[in-house]
Amino acid sequence: MSRPQVLVIAAALGLAFSQTVLAAPAPAAALAGNPLAAASTLPFHYPAFDQIKDEHFQPAFVEGMRIQLKEIAAIADNKKPATFENTIVAMEKSGELLTRVQTTFGNLQGANTNDKLDAIDSEMSPKLAAHGDAIYLNAKLYARVKSLYDKRDQLKLDAESKHLLERYHTDFVRAGAKLSNADKEKLKTLNGAIATLQTTFTQNVLKETNASALVVDTREELAGMTDAAIDAAAAAAKAKGMDGKFLVAIVNTSGQPPLAVLTNRAVRERLMAASLTRGSHGGEFDSREVVLKIAKARAEKATLLGYANFAAYSLEDQTAHDTAAVNKLLGELAKPAVTNAKKEAADLQAVVDADKGGFQIDASDWAFYTDKVRAQRFAFDENQLKPYFELNNVLTNGVFYAAGKLYGLSFKERKDLPVYNPDVRVFDVFDANGKQLAIFLADMYARSNKQGGAWMNEYSSQSSLLGTHSVVANHLNIPKPPAGEPTLLTYDEVKTAFHEFGHALHGMFSNVKYPRFSGTSVPRDFVEYPSQVNEMWAVWPEVLSNYAKHYKTGAPMPKELLDKVIASKKFNQGFLTTEYLSASLLDQRWHQLTPSQIPTDVLGFEAQSLKDMGVDFAPVPPRYRTTYFSHSFSGGYSAGYYAYLWSEKLDADTVEWFKEKGGLKRENGDWFRAKLLSRGGTDDAMNLFRNFRGRDPIIEPLLERRGLTGK
Ligand SMILES: [Zn+2]
Repeated sequence: MSRPQVLVIAAALGLAFSQTVLAAPAPAAALAGNPLAAASTLPFHYPAFDQIKDEHFQPAFVEGMRIQLKEIAAIADNKKPATFENTIVAMEKSGELLTRVQTTFGNLQGANTNDKLDAIDSEMSPKLAAHGDAIYLNAKLYARVKSLYDKRDQLKLDAESKHLLERYHTDFVRAGAKLSNADKEKLKTLNGAIATLQTTFTQNVLKETNASALVVDTREELAGMTDAAIDAAAAAAKAKGMDGKFLVAIVNTSGQPPLAVLTNRAVRERLMAASLTRGSHGGEFDSREVVLKIAKARAEKATLLGYANFAAYSLEDQTAHDTAAVNKLLGELAKPAVTNAKKEAADLQAVVDADKGGFQIDASDWAFYTDKVRAQRFAFDENQLKPYFELNNVLTNGVFYAAGKLYGLSFKERKDLPVYNPDVRVFDVFDANGKQLAIFLADMYARSNKQGGAWMNEYSSQSSLLGTHSVVANHLNIPKPPAGEPTLLTYDEVKTAFHEFGHALHGMFSNVKYPRFSGTSVPRDFVEYPSQVNEMWAVWPEVLSNYAKHYKTGAPMPKELLDKVIASKKFNQGFLTTEYLSASLLDQRWHQLTPSQIPTDVLGFEAQSLKDMGVDFAPVPPRYRTTYFSHSFSGGYSAGYYAYLWSEKLDADTVEWFKEKGGLKRENGDWFRAKLLSRGGTDDAMNLFRNFRGRDPIIEPLLERRGLTGK
């Protein structure tokens, strides 16, 4: 199961800023010659990556904020009484320049950063936080929103507009609009501090991950890795001036892919240690202090806003609603998950003992012996699959093919639009009626200047109010093979490609009026649901037979091989569920503290928390430890890492629906699109689900899938 990094959801400030030039004040002369100053003239306002230079961002940010504050002041100071049009719609139309700068910058900084962009990020984060506060804490503006909200039933608004008014009211209240002036000032200080700290944390994690790559002296020590992977490690070392050595890169999770194949136990242990100690062994990128400061500042913010803790504040706006509901779900699943993991550990230990290994299984051994058990029990090696999962085939004959069958989409690659990296591919996406729906960017390869994990984001979001369309990107971190070699994916990478494309569909199918509700602008514990559903098509027989072909011979993947993989994936569910739950529980523990409860010892608190929650099983460390837990401390999924499991309940139930209805059929895809994927955030998320499914979700399909039914 893939755990993408951070899905960038609509506009970072909560307000959705417009994408087209409206009656906005003109940018100042400071932006003369700056390609960000006006909407791109490329199709669908696709960014002019070849024109945009690093130095264009800072002045465009400054100007974008200045213009939007002018627009907001005009709305707040309007002498005419508040109307939906002159207040709410006017805000939806504000900030055109800032949105363009922010989405372009945010996407590039995540996917293709450098020291200059990092420095701009550090400078702008607190300024953008202050900018958001200047809008949401504007008393005159809030008074107008509230006056409309109080008479919302008399305004004769259509359903989407009424929901928008309610959404704005909630956004203002949650941002502190009801606070006293003194408390508003305190909140502004906290928001600025949090923004700066989160930026520091994010940059530390990437730098520390790069710095933690394992240096190995001899080729022999990497036994088990393919020749191509060892050659890549040699090339990576050479590029860092360590000619003759080998550099094994680290990925963002605790687990590291080479652990499954490295036969040298000492090297496995070194690699695992390099991963697990990230951010907590001293040095320039140590994140312990910054974690404590973030936790404290968030707790103080929650207190100021009248909540027991930051998780309570955060969850109130999610479909889960409160900490009790989340603690209940995670708590109930923790015990059976750990029980399963311990059973799996016993199976692994049996292999070690049979080999007269003479040691106890620990975290660095898990993946290696799991593959051995798989090989014994299911008689296959996962590497046998890779020749059938060639990247281009997976994308065009798998991911795109499924979208064609389900939704009638077609794709045409174009090479005329500029890209920020030569590996990025660009596709026009057409609806069944031949009309262009969106532009899709596929940025699939790992780079040292790219955040870890996988994610989707948009350079432009659909809105009929603004006349804009979706320009959507998927980012993965597939290791790039040496020149001339094919890119062969693992089964998990294939599923990730389908997963991220599920987010892309959610963006592309958006058919809403207001930008605030576009595409993936839904609660965080709902947003992973459509993407997880899309994973089902990766192994759907008709899709699979269309793309899983041997890259050399074109021979179809033997069905029994795939059946073995799928059966074998159930073997490691105890591990996967436990490592995920441990991280989710840690995320909750850190965010269910009051300011006075913030500890001083990060690792001590982490260890005690895992123990208290019954998930302290050393062979299965949390999927992310605190000091490199970007979901939790960079901002995107703070107190929200549980969202993947929460969404998976809806996902598993929806997969059953597709199966009941005959699977890969246009009428099924069209129903899912009409009732859910096209609706963005225009209605309560659970209403959307009920409209689609015809009832509330049930949990049984999820328990069944994860082997937690006790059967
Ligand atoms: Zn996702």
